[in-house]
Amino acid sequence: MPPNPDCIFCKIIAGRAEASFLFREAKVAAFLDVFPWLPGHTLVVPRRHVTGLAELTPDLGGHMLAAGRRVAAALRLGIPGCEGVNFFLADGAVAGQTVFHCHLHVLPRAAADGFGIRRPAVRPPSREELEAQATRLRTSLPAPRRAAARR
Ligand code: AMP
Ligand code: ZN
Repeated sequence: MPPNPDCIFCKIIAGRAEASFLFREAKVAAFLDVFPWLPGHTLVVPRRHVTGLAELTPDLGGHMLAAGRRVAAALRLGIPGCEGVNFFLADGAVAGQTVFHCHLHVLPRAAADGFGIRRPAVRPPSREELEAQATRLRTSLPAPRRAAARR
């Protein structure tokens, strides 16, 4: 997709809005979140405007993961008390996505930092229920994309 003139992350990547970058590469960039959930909260963003996971090629997804790993290493070294890292990606408004240019949150974790994921209490399903669900989901799986379809 071409850059979206209304997209804040496209503006940042084009240099038309300010951001504090950790790095810019050919396919992805990493910059600090302006409303950090924790100090050092970084966003890894594809340079190309893709709204969500469905438009992310395996190649671009690989670049995002590799960039996220680099950021994670920097957080572990550069953020005092950082002893772990969370990746978080919201795909769709109901999942918490507010900026519709796909991005990976990279969060430095420290003991008692107050961050957490609220998990609903779901009854653990039986093996039969798990098998039935896996069967249903297998019929919904898209075919794997060919490695040649690189972008
Ligand atoms: P999400 O809710 O997963 O779509 O995350 C969007 C993130 O983008 C939020 O954590 C925002 O704080 C962050 N954000 C929004 N505008 C900017 C901006 N101009 N610079 C840096 N981060 C931003
Ligand atoms: Zn965009």
